[in-house]
Amino acid sequence: MSATLILHPGKERSLIKRHPWIFDTSLARLVGQARLGDTVTVCDTHGKPLAKAAYSPHSKIRARVWSFDPDVPIDHAFFKRRVAEAVRRRAALPELATQQGLRLIHAESDGLPGVIADRYGDTVVVQLTSAGADKWRDAIIAGLIQATGCARLFERSDSELRALEGLEPATGWRFGAAPEGEIVIEEHGVKMAVDIVAGHKTGFYLDQRANRRLLAELSHGKRVLNCFCYTGGFSLQALAGGATRVLSIDSSQPALERAVANLALNPGLDASRAVWRCANVFEELRQLKAAGETFDLIVLDPPKFAPSAAHIGRASRAYKDVNLLGFKLLAPGGLMMTYSCSGGIGVELFQKIVAGAALDAGRTARIVKRLQGAADHPIDLAFPEGEYLKGLLLQVD
Ligand code: SAH
Repeated sequence: MSATLILHPGKERSLIKRHPWIFDTSLARLVGQARLGDTVTVCDTHGKPLAKAAYSPHSKIRARVWSFDPDVPIDHAFFKRRVAEAVRRRAALPELATQQGLRLIHAESDGLPGVIADRYGDTVVVQLTSAGADKWRDAIIAGLIQATGCARLFERSDSELRALEGLEPATGWRFGAAPEGEIVIEEHGVKMAVDIVAGHKTGFYLDQRANRRLLAELSHGKRVLNCFCYTGGFSLQALAGGATRVLSIDSSQPALERAVANLALNPGLDASRAVWRCANVFEELRQLKAAGETFDLIVLDPPKFAPSAAHIGRASRAYKDVNLLGFKLLAPGGLMMTYSCSGGIGVELFQKIVAGAALDAGRTARIVKRLQGAADHPIDLAFPEGEYLKGLLLQVD
């Protein structure tokens, strides 16, 4: 018999709307015993069962829902089914079906809170960030191997989120063995090596795939500036799209070395048009401005400045600053692709920040397209928090 979480009166409302998080402040009491990651039945104040959830005793998000049907058994078969459904959803979308680099499981939005799984060719990389996900590791991994037929699976559970759950980092090969040589995927015809062991996230920013294609389409004949370039994803697509010059900036030397190596994997791209600079974007953009440089197309894809709501003020200033500098470097009629991947900064706030930056730079800017994560990073309508990546394509007078 699983333990029961009883909610305070009224706190069942978000559950009824199928939001999967139960905060510590919503909980009246725990009836019975539950340890880290155990499955509990969540009940309203009258004891009516509403959901099955994973218990996280150390986290402010005290439980995460596995199923809104309290009668569904949470067992191996449950995870096998959920994983297979997520994989099938990707296969059903033509733009995703043929991708070598693909997010297979996008946590809450695929009904699996705390579970991220990405596929790079024949290799799956899984990241477990919650106590419940950690508990069901074996079932999730078995489900992924079965649903994909992949040769190997690496666990990359080293996110700092795990500490909030009382979990230690866990990394290593869980199925198959390390491949000979590096893992290389092709994205829109460009080869990219993916460092699944030491790279960011699971090694690559798959969420920007569709936006990288858009950049390629916009780059012909343009002088492109790619800020926060990481391993060169946007930079190489700009070159593939016919940019005349691509200046890429990142503060991470290892990321830039990867970027240069990625360019070398693509002999069809004109390496003489690429310039890589290891620098702080904020300082470098000021120097470019002082030197009188301008660009026709600027990409701003900074790291998560606001990892949580507590950082929104400082993060807003950082987003404003970088956008202001970007506007100042853009030639008249230029395009700016600007992003925020901070969950705490919503679409409206982001637009306000960018509008403030344009105003201060004395530029008139028009949104020609709203941008978001690729289709393998879906957003469950009941879980708006899933919309962490937002962007604007601006045409600037
Ligand atoms: N656009 C990339 C992902 C960007 S991730 C892609 O599509 O693959 C953010 C990057 O910003 C990281 O590579 C990190 O090293 C870099 N970074 C963080 N702060 C920085 C700063 N102040 N100046 C320059 N680069 C920075």
